[in-house]
Amino acid sequence: MNTQAITSSIHPVLVVGAGPVGMTTALALRRHGLPVTILEAEPQNRIRPGSRAIYIHRATLQLLEEISPGLGHRMAEHGVIWPVKRTFFRGRQVYVRHYPTPEPGTIPPFTSLPQVQIERLLYDACVQAGVQFVWSTQVDGLEVSEDAVTLVTATGDRWQARYVVGADGARSTIRRSSGIKMEGTRSVNAFVVVDIAEDPAAPMPLERVFHYQHPAMDGRNVLFVPFAGGWRIDLQLFETDDEEQYSGEAGVRAWLPRVMDAKYAERITWVSTYQFLQVVCESFADNLRRVLLVGEAAHLFAPFGARGLNSGVVDAVVAARAISQGLQAGSLDEARRAIDAFAEERRTAARYNRDAAGVALEHIQGGSVGMQLKRYVGASLSGAWTDLGRWLDEGPYGPKSGPPTGTKY
Ligand SMILES: Cc1cc2nc3c(=O)[nH]c(=O)nc-3n(C[C@H](O)[C@H](O)[C@H](O)COP(=O)(O)OP(=O)(O)OC[C@H]3O[C@@H](n4cnc5c(N)ncnc54)[C@H](O)[C@@H]3O)c2cc1C
Repeated sequence: MNTQAITSSIHPVLVVGAGPVGMTTALALRRHGLPVTILEAEPQNRIRPGSRAIYIHRATLQLLEEISPGLGHRMAEHGVIWPVKRTFFRGRQVYVRHYPTPEPGTIPPFTSLPQVQIERLLYDACVQAGVQFVWSTQVDGLEVSEDAVTLVTATGDRWQARYVVGADGARSTIRRSSGIKMEGTRSVNAFVVVDIAEDPAAPMPLERVFHYQHPAMDGRNVLFVPFAGGWRIDLQLFETDDEEQYSGEAGVRAWLPRVMDAKYAERITWVSTYQFLQVVCESFADNLRRVLLVGEAAHLFAPFGARGLNSGVVDAVVAARAISQGLQAGSLDEARRAIDAFAEERRTAARYNRDAAGVALEHIQGGSVGMQLKRYVGASLSGAWTDLGRWLDEGPYGPKSGPPTGTKY
């Protein structure tokens, strides 16, 4: 591609980062009829990390369907939907729920597939929609004026646009260069997150299973979530644990047979260890309202409730609408108001999501005497009072209530 030719013209919008949220932003912008170019630091044939998003909510599938007809259904078809979920407390089942099979041809309540597959489907949709990708192009900084942004790449190339969307992930250069800070906390203990490939000859039943205080793991919490082609296992370590002992492929091989058939220790595909950040940026746009932040560039949540990528998709759709309005505005003030509305709405949603993920963390791991007692009493009485079992089951998801009126997750 002739970079000189591109940089000499001013783009209506440039997206930085070809992760799932950057690609969703590009699709939403194309839906508004705008030409879109994505600048991506890594090469096209990169290997993306595993152990990230698997769970996509119905609302997300519906939004994907709106911005790229067929995509929501394709995503659903590539994933799995588990018909049963169970919760155990110290080895005893305290809650079970069976779901009806979704009607064929409808968007299901959720779908579960690895993020690498989600990204592949988004990429194919982007190519079909005419999104331009410029790979191996790392943005190192930016200059902003009242009516344009200039991006400067590692090789010194300059790209100009009316608007820039920073979808460049947790270590966002766009956020840092815009002087925007993150606010929040970090989980105190670590989680070991393991992906394993299913054995197609003898698969386990498709059930999401959460264990509070698994007896075989000396009381550590363990979550099992099926996804297309495999399983996600989350082991929650104690604050005093030596991470090394449980993480890495060797560490996982040592404990996995305590909670699953030993054959799965030979089927590990990815292991990551996280201490989850719970942070939201202080503003979703720069002072001049030319740079918008979306996805992990703007917020990081513990994955309980699956709010990261799901809310990144909403950020993307709202950002694209705001940019389209900004480009058509009759004055700078009107253009700014469109971006202000995006920034306000998505920051409110992100703060809600951060707090909800925090409630989930407290629910499953909170060490206060009150919370420990609540879990213990809930489990003891769950046989007589189903609501208590349901309360325990909700732990890994956080509150069921929605975000403030007028805001989507
Ligand atoms: C264990 C775990 C489980 C999760 N489970 C779920 C789940 O079930 N559901 C859910 O909704 N979310 C989940 N998430 C969160 C989800 O993975 C993230 O929200 C999502 O990956 C964020 O996507 P993104 O596009 O914002 O960022 P990224 O995926 O990080 O993409 C950023 C892109 O920007 C590029 N880039 C970075 N810097 C530059 C630069 N300077 N110039 C150009 N390009 C650049 C990067 O190379 C990358 O391609 C989970 C996360 C974890 C860790």
